[in-house]
Amino acid sequence: MSGVFLTLNAGSSSVKFAIFDSNDPSTTPQIRGKIAGIGGTPVFSARKSNGVALDAGALSSLDVLSDHETLIGQLLPWLAAQYGKQPLLAVGHRVVHGGQNFTAPTLISPIVLQQLEALVPLAPLHQPHNIAAIRAIAKGQPDIPQIACFDTSFHRSQDRLAQLFALPRALTDEGVIRYGFHGLSYDYIASVLPEYLGEHASGRVIVAHLGNGSSMCAMKDRQSVSTSMGFTALDGLMMGRRCGALDPGVVLYLMQAKGMDAAEIETLLYRKSGLLGVSGISNDMQVLQTSDAPQAHEAIDLFCFRAAGNLAGLLPSIGGIDALVFTAGIGENSALVRKLICQRLDWLGIAIDDAENNENAITISAQHSTAKVLVIPTNEEAVVARACRDLLT
Ligand code: AMP
Repeated sequence: MSGVFLTLNAGSSSVKFAIFDSNDPSTTPQIRGKIAGIGGTPVFSARKSNGVALDAGALSSLDVLSDHETLIGQLLPWLAAQYGKQPLLAVGHRVVHGGQNFTAPTLISPIVLQQLEALVPLAPLHQPHNIAAIRAIAKGQPDIPQIACFDTSFHRSQDRLAQLFALPRALTDEGVIRYGFHGLSYDYIASVLPEYLGEHASGRVIVAHLGNGSSMCAMKDRQSVSTSMGFTALDGLMMGRRCGALDPGVVLYLMQAKGMDAAEIETLLYRKSGLLGVSGISNDMQVLQTSDAPQAHEAIDLFCFRAAGNLAGLLPSIGGIDALVFTAGIGENSALVRKLICQRLDWLGIAIDDAENNENAITISAQHSTAKVLVIPTNEEAVVARACRDLLT
């Protein structure tokens, strides 16, 4: 049966959606849009695949301080008008945490929903919004199958050692392990690697997902072997507002010497650190790149220094590198960041072609580079839409 799939990605302050033709879920969605500014003044926008903006209709003014569930409820009639006569066959959700048990996309039932709720403590800033989106659809469209696609699943192929912290065994047993995130993005890149690398796609590849949230994944045979994010989406690379890897002693200092409580530390580490904290100017790479302030340059330099260091830390798990892939907002668009990271990797024999890099070409490595360096746009929604197709058939 033909129709459409709706994908939803409910983040802390936005809900992104996309509508896919069910016969062609692997490519560009027919419509892509979002409600941004949730928690303050929500703003709706949507475009067709050809870039033409769509009329917001009743969504042009949304109530201030509305929550995710309410806003998604209000979005549904607008979406239904876009489907026209095509039936909505399934709704696919990006769900940040699947714990140890959800290793693949899963049809959501009341029991699955309970299990997702039990994982809230592992991702308190993200998981509740994913669950709110699922509830909003269940309320507005109770007969439509809903499918959860997890950011953690892709990493469950890792060896046990790559997933362990050096903590007492009892904590490991209760699930304090390195889960890894951005799995939908890595899954997409892994799925298209053969188009870019042919038979070498199954070699040693490191994917750098550099966006507001940033991480890296080392792959072999297009499967995750190790990754920079750990128990939460706070670990690893420096990010827009998040600190990345941090000596845990700093957290003890904040508590003991500065008297900060858990909520204050959470805000500091998740919202006031990273590019924003170091520059004191912005969390946005594009803004920092156009700034003359030395603090902006220091923030960019630190971002790249730490990215190169993280990449080096992943190398032993795959025994070297045949290809480096840049993706996500910064990875796809910032020639400066790619150049600064690759300069710090020249000891590995990695070299880029400046002209190709400045044009955001697909292959940006120089002829003599020991590893191919590629820029591949990610498409997390396509992974969710494909999962809808696969689970329904
Ligand atoms: P994402 O979270 O994947 O949407 O990525 C957002 C990040 O990508 C922000 O820091 C943006 O400033 C950055 N970004 C987007 N376009 C560019 C660009 N042309 N140059 C530098 N950074 C960019």
